[in-house]
Amino acid sequence: EVRVRFAPSPTGNLHVGGARTALFNYLFARSKGGKFILRIEDTDLERSTRKSEEAMLNDLSWLGLDWDEGPGAGGEYGPYRQSERNSLYKQYAEKLLNSGHVYRCFCSSEELEQMKETAKQMQLPPVYTGKWATASDEEVQKELEKGTPYTYRFRVPKEGRLKIEDIIRGEVSWGLDTLGDFVILRSNGQPVYNFCVTVDDATMHISHVIRAEEHLPNTLRQALIYNALGFPMPSFAHVSLILAPDRSKLSKRHGATSVGQFREMGYLPQAMVNYLALLGWGDGTENEFFTIDQLVEKFSIDRVNKSGAVFDSAKLRWMNGQHLRALPSEELVKIIGERWKTAGILLESEGMFVKEATELLKDGIDLVTDADKVMSNLLSYPLNSTLTSAEGKPVLEDKLPEVASSLIAAYDSGELRKALEEGHAGWQKWVKSFGKLLKRKGKSLFMPLRVLLTGKLHGPDMGGSILLIYKAGINGDIVNPQI
Ligand code: GLU
Repeated sequence: EVRVRFAPSPTGNLHVGGARTALFNYLFARSKGGKFILRIEDTDLERSTRKSEEAMLNDLSWLGLDWDEGPGAGGEYGPYRQSERNSLYKQYAEKLLNSGHVYRCFCSSEELEQMKETAKQMQLPPVYTGKWATASDEEVQKELEKGTPYTYRFRVPKEGRLKIEDIIRGEVSWGLDTLGDFVILRSNGQPVYNFCVTVDDATMHISHVIRAEEHLPNTLRQALIYNALGFPMPSFAHVSLILAPDRSKLSKRHGATSVGQFREMGYLPQAMVNYLALLGWGDGTENEFFTIDQLVEKFSIDRVNKSGAVFDSAKLRWMNGQHLRALPSEELVKIIGERWKTAGILLESEGMFVKEATELLKDGIDLVTDADKVMSNLLSYPLNSTLTSAEGKPVLEDKLPEVASSLIAAYDSGELRKALEEGHAGWQKWVKSFGKLLKRKGKSLFMPLRVLLTGKLHGPDMGGSILLIYKAGINGDIVNPQI
């Protein structure tokens, strides 16, 4: 049975790198009919917080990556927080002590420092060479009686290589001679990170460990512990780093990097999921648009790329636009309408006006929040008052004298208003005759008209924009007067 896990440390926000790891695990589990497990790695008690854990779970849920076992979901291999599993770690540490894979080390920190210093001077690797690896039972007994603090050290074979077959990276091997006996339990009884991970993965029956490349070096210690405990080794897949466009490690200085930030900026979870999946994976075709169900269907861990993937926020933005426009139109209208209402642009979040406005603007936006800007931009140009008020005249006439004066005349006479009452067809008919009157067409007609009627050089479809501005003007109860 396929059982995979995502094991975040709750010491901050869920970043795009973590989210991608979670996603690959999720897709792998779902595509194999397996289980996706969530485990909280809070052994670092100083830095771990419940608040961070909650935020991470929230972000994962928002992305739609629901877990089968873990906090909030239960499961038969819990608890799923490392801080609640201490007795289990203790139990396996004792087991290893009894089997001789682990020994008690009574070295003080001064002694250990001294050893490191000596190794350095002799240009040797700083590995543990203390006497406790070979101490007799009597020596150990004596220290125990004295109450000397001790750690549990793992006995590493002094030669040979350890080899694993990584699904993404192929064969990876390490020489054992430079590792040295490492601590698995501190003198205060606290288990060490790599030991916890191994005990957890083994006792939770994890079949595939899919995680970030930065954990590859940990695999050596973990594999040794697996062997010592007699547990079958899982398969490993180490996913490459996410890079910034300059190919350095992606970090805060490159802009938004946490899932929460993107959510606040108005990104859709399905666009995030789609984009994250493409960071190191593709289905082998040109296609880049996938729903989560399509990803589950197409995903294969063998196709995950070994080289680092560049995070391109412009592409993510573009992708969000694709997903936005792929939404059923009622859903899009609802999202955008609510957005306008929340942003204080419209007083109502639904109705004909919202529908027409969404239809008009949707092609020009990538994010829901873009809709705010475009809408308030349009509406900040009140057609009626600009064209009727005397104060408006000189400005317009200064800029585009010929078109402006004819336009004002057309408005004042009621001709333009009448055309706008008739909607699109009315507008089109009017534009045509207006062009004839001025002997202008194409750009020389539309550019000045757009500037005069919308106050902008560019924007959504002009007729649509003007009709919208007009409707907003006569329907005072739709638009927030503050705008
Ligand atoms: N807790 C580790 C992290 O947040 C993950 C370790 C693992 O997946 O083995 O980076």
